[in-house]
Amino acid sequence: MILILSSNASEKPREYQTLLAHLAAMPGIQIRVHVERGLEQTVMEIYLIGNTKLLDVADLQGLPCVERVVRVSEEYRILGRHKDDLRPTHFEYNGVRFGQDTLHVFAGLCAVDNREHVEIMLRTLRDNGQVCTRMGAYKPRTSPYAFQGHGKECLPYVFELAGKYGIKVMAMEITHESHLDEINEALHQTGEAVGVMLQIGTRNTQNFELLKIVGRQNKLPVLLKRGFGITLDESLNAAEYLASEGNRNVVFCLRGMKTNMADPHRNFVDFAHVPAVKRLTRMPVCIDPSHSVGSRAASPDGIMDMLHVTAQGVLAGANMVLVDFHPAPVKALVDGPQAMLLNELPYFLEDVQIARDAYLKRVELRRRQSFN
Ligand code: PEP
Ligand code: MN
Repeated sequence: MILILSSNASEKPREYQTLLAHLAAMPGIQIRVHVERGLEQTVMEIYLIGNTKLLDVADLQGLPCVERVVRVSEEYRILGRHKDDLRPTHFEYNGVRFGQDTLHVFAGLCAVDNREHVEIMLRTLRDNGQVCTRMGAYKPRTSPYAFQGHGKECLPYVFELAGKYGIKVMAMEITHESHLDEINEALHQTGEAVGVMLQIGTRNTQNFELLKIVGRQNKLPVLLKRGFGITLDESLNAAEYLASEGNRNVVFCLRGMKTNMADPHRNFVDFAHVPAVKRLTRMPVCIDPSHSVGSRAASPDGIMDMLHVTAQGVLAGANMVLVDFHPAPVKALVDGPQAMLLNELPYFLEDVQIARDAYLKRVELRRRQSFN
């Protein structure tokens, strides 16, 4: 159960202490206090853990400082959507709002290869009004002999250039806890030039120790990719690990499932799950058309499969698009064949906007209907 406290609870220390004492005296119930500091207000929540079945919602509702009581289902206690759950479905990071009602494109390099390519990419994003990007410094590769990413060596110039071109948030995958320290160190050295959204890749979705470490900090939000060979429920529980350790600023990313049935796509595109994730949890949902489709193949209408699936995901309400671009794909060290070209960026953004407008129209159409 979750007790959501009234916004002025922190100004009433006596009532608050009375509440805590009352809860502490309840047999078999443990309490966990969570404080969520937002830009506009601070929300305090108390989680009641244990056998809460016999507790009466109305009784709890009458306790001092309690505004609302939510009885949670067993699943996804913190990130899940529960009955009568009015908790927010968004968070702000570095001036950018991420929610189940927003849409951001994170176009950028799958892997940082050199300073020149990073700068050309970022300048193009700035010229197209973009404030978000993706940049890979730590690459999990199938072969131990393949390029593993430039790691911490590239961080200072990547962050500095991002600041120079007005980028607010950069998604960057980490595969080990030391990468978090290296990113924080480089952010500090570059005067926090940019915000970083820590990406947990599909190979690490159930790396529980990494999830716990990333969850224990809440300076940087997290982009958690769905595991490529596990159920949706298992991936959503992985997201819950982050939240249970304290970090609720999590975006969930669909990136396709590994199966030969996906041929000729690299992974089986799973963007039909966009509305399912939004219904089951309060997380914004990202789609990754690059790693789902994995090529620049186009259908007879001339539209690339990657753009078709992007439109399908956005039309279903996706909140973020993570997509590989590269100034010179033949020279890219990772995933060149699936990269979009820089001169395709305005076209890509316009195509995404068409799908977004259609989605908003669909929501409006549904709102006008009188049936339940
Ligand atoms: C990536 O986004 O660069 C990546 C490696 O993705 P995934 O973890 O989905 O394979
Ligand atoms: Mn890639």
